[in-house]
Amino acid sequence: MKLPEILAPAGDLEKLKTAYMYGADACYMGMKSVSMRVKGSTMDIDEVEAALKIAKKMGKKLYLTMNIYAHENKMNFLEKEIERLKEMKKKDLVPDGLLISDPGILMEVKEACPWIDIHISTQANTLNASACEFWAKLGVKRVVLGREVSLREVKQIREKLKAKGIEVELEAFVHGAMCMAYSGRCLLSNFMTSRDANEGMCAHSCRWNYKMYLEEEKRPGEFIPVYEDEAGTSIMSTKDMCMLEHLDDIIDCGLDSAKIEGRHKTVFYAAIASRIYRQAMDLAAKGKKLTPELLDLMETINTRGYSTGFWYGKPGAEGQKYTGDRGDYNEKYCFAGVIRKVDGKTVDMEVRNTLKQGDKLDIITPKETIPVKLGEFRNAANDEIIEEAHAGQGFTIRFEVSEEVKEGYVLRKRL
Ligand code: SF4
Repeated sequence: MKLPEILAPAGDLEKLKTAYMYGADACYMGMKSVSMRVKGSTMDIDEVEAALKIAKKMGKKLYLTMNIYAHENKMNFLEKEIERLKEMKKKDLVPDGLLISDPGILMEVKEACPWIDIHISTQANTLNASACEFWAKLGVKRVVLGREVSLREVKQIREKLKAKGIEVELEAFVHGAMCMAYSGRCLLSNFMTSRDANEGMCAHSCRWNYKMYLEEEKRPGEFIPVYEDEAGTSIMSTKDMCMLEHLDDIIDCGLDSAKIEGRHKTVFYAAIASRIYRQAMDLAAKGKKLTPELLDLMETINTRGYSTGFWYGKPGAEGQKYTGDRGDYNEKYCFAGVIRKVDGKTVDMEVRNTLKQGDKLDIITPKETIPVKLGEFRNAANDEIIEEAHAGQGFTIRFEVSEEVKEGYVLRKRL
């Protein structure tokens, strides 16, 4: 049985290594000037080269995104990126795919760099077999389907393509944030903050809490507030997609790649999301159910609440998060830190939240979750015993563990 690859987001080199270590088969990351998610999650050329070397060494795949819809002034950047791709080829560094949406960029890249496989980005909103055929006939290797495509439609697309003998890989999102608009086709952010969603700079205006007022026709100017709860109302905010419990269907529908959203999210997210989808996919392949440990691990990720998006039909009210917080706060767990150095049983951990002696932590390894109690710990910079540690500027603590751990492992704290 061919399993879809687990494709994880990587906003930087640390997240890339972490996602691979925690079980992702492949990662996607952005090229600085021509990628969506520009803010803080794209690579300059040295980083891209380093990323390709890491992927090669670890035997994993790496796809690069060039998926903005480009205005004329962005096409100058494209020329530079193409030159860089040519330079990289001379060093035998070739990405496993380039994610593109803009037909102009597609044409330019195909002509200039025919050795690179092209993947059509979800931004192109491909929703049917004919559209996949169209892209395949232009020499595209893979199509990332729109988030709006249902499970039934993916099966139909796969069958129609097969019947016509058209070979094109299919990729779709199985986890992560949704747009309340057609993916990326939204001007809210542009209108409210001058940050263009189609150039990767969305401010997520749809997630904000809004206050609503009623104005009665005969009482102009008298605004009557409409309260939903103390946090206002998030009338446009969609819940996050999560297909973790339905990966048997994902295997069955003939998808080649199961994609996780979130290049701008933390290294903690990269680790947890890669691990849970890796293990859940392997369990689904054997016809087994999710373990309680994996279900619990899923609750480690901050979320606005989960839905299955469009996979089982158009979402109704259950797919929206109208009220409450924005999902930035998790009441059960928080990110405790990342192990930076291991020396026998002594570990140095970069702190990501306030920690005190006696805190209950969990070491999340790529295979299991190991509970530990934080005993005496030291400031790794001067080896002095301290009572409390706070996150900030790479602050690192030193403590003893009896378990086998590795650099790059993440830990969570029980709240
Ligand atoms: S504001 Fe919301 S709906 Fe609009 S592009 Fe951004 S995430 Fe999508």
